[in-house]
Amino acid sequence: MIQETKALFIIFGGTGDLARRKLYPALFKLYQKNYLKKHFAVIGTARREWSDDYYQEIVSQAVSDEDTVTEEAREFASHFRYQSHNVNDTEHYETLKILADSLDQEYSIEGNRLFYLAMSPSFFGTISKNLKDQQLVTEKGFDRVIIEKPFGSDFPSAKKLNDQIRNTFDESQLYRIDHYLGKEMIQNLMAVRFGNSLVESFWNHRYIKNIQITLSESLGVEERGGYYDTSGALRDMVQNHVLQLVSILAMEPPQTFCAENVTKEKVKILSSLKYYSKEELDNHFVRGQYAENPARPDEYSAYRQEEKVDEKSSTETFVAGRLEIQTPRWKDTPFYIRTGKRLKDKTTQIDVELVNHSLPLFGEKETAKTVFSLKVDPDKGISLYLNGKKAGPIIELESIELSKLYTKEELVNSPEDYEKLIGDVLKGNSTNFVHWDELAASWKFIDHIRGMWDSTTPEFPNYPSGSMGPEASDKLIAQDGFSWFLN
Ligand code: NAD
Repeated sequence: MIQETKALFIIFGGTGDLARRKLYPALFKLYQKNYLKKHFAVIGTARREWSDDYYQEIVSQAVSDEDTVTEEAREFASHFRYQSHNVNDTEHYETLKILADSLDQEYSIEGNRLFYLAMSPSFFGTISKNLKDQQLVTEKGFDRVIIEKPFGSDFPSAKKLNDQIRNTFDESQLYRIDHYLGKEMIQNLMAVRFGNSLVESFWNHRYIKNIQITLSESLGVEERGGYYDTSGALRDMVQNHVLQLVSILAMEPPQTFCAENVTKEKVKILSSLKYYSKEELDNHFVRGQYAENPARPDEYSAYRQEEKVDEKSSTETFVAGRLEIQTPRWKDTPFYIRTGKRLKDKTTQIDVELVNHSLPLFGEKETAKTVFSLKVDPDKGISLYLNGKKAGPIIELESIELSKLYTKEELVNSPEDYEKLIGDVLKGNSTNFVHWDELAASWKFIDHIRGMWDSTTPEFPNYPSGSMGPEASDKLIAQDGFSWFLN
């Protein structure tokens, strides 16, 4: 039986896009499943002047289908209160404390508090300091902090931010979100890898030629041009999501799935990434920026024409790279990564190409690739591509696919990313969150690349919207004799 966790959420950035699109629906799901029930309340706080009634209306709408707001949604929203203020203003925290204490009493929450920092990270230090100074951090119950990306823009800024937050909270109280870690198929990766001796037996450089990770987006920067132009794909996607997936794919089996053991193994991988010289970087990394598509001129605009983007911007909207992980397990097995905006489709997929020394019994024709694929989004499933016999009178090989695609019905109980992760925070389980040591190692690696890239001006734009990125991305992998499995 599911037991509710008593909890008071204080959401900084309660009027924001993330809160509406992700957090309120996730909390509602947890409410519907009884992880949150009677003893929970939410304070939304942001600059705008909203009344409780208006806020509750916004929350009910956010968790409902377009036209119908159910009684259950209204009941859920009745647990929400709104307080307007500027987070830089100390008085704000005094009134916030009064409201928090009274809701704690009203809903018998017993001091359990979750502070959700869903606004610009530049405020996190100030918020943490004030939470402590104004005693919003409680003596009884738990205090947990959920932190959104971006956590810094390089190692020094991430460290500064971390030091500020750590003046108030211990590492064990911090839950740094990377929503990829909440994805059903990333969880499933652990099950498939560690639940089958067969898989674990080939999960090394002797049997794996290369691993390919693609996180492609079909959208451009949309309204985020201002932020994105100061960030770029390397910081916005590779530093966090891509390197997190690499570390999970490559890590040694942890002793247990507890946060401490998993972090330890992930950090070993992130610290084993090879740092390239300038010359090696030019050979092993490609950056790109999207242009219009001459064949579909009305459909797309170039990145440099996007709102709030510098018209001479050198910001990359695409990165492909060849990573080397210097551990005995991955000796000579490259990990190719690829991520970008305005690509052909929105897809997250991991393709593991296996060694295939088929016997020379089948004539001249080349055998097809043997590939283990993990489809993360939008399809969710696992496929193994093998060589089999084409049905007929002669022995002729063809590629056959053994596949398990999860159906909508099977996924009905699968939590959305944010629901899964906030549920973990309620349980105090930080396995699927990013530890500071992981962040530190990944920022150092990214800073090394960034530093070399920033010393030269790239020739942008270099790929048409709706393609799979610059041609150089295909050449990058072709120079090792491989090709992207996902096209
Ligand atoms: P947003 O601009 O829609 O919302 C920002 C919120 O912060 C608003 O509620 C605003 O009122 C509040 N705010 C800003 N300055 C304030 C101040 N001085 N005092 C009090 N409140 C203030 O942004 P968002 O898209 O909701 O993103 C929030 C954070 O989450 C950002 O750090 C973003 O990078 C991160 N994030 C967002 C998404 C997403 O899908 N939107 C995804 C991942 C991470």
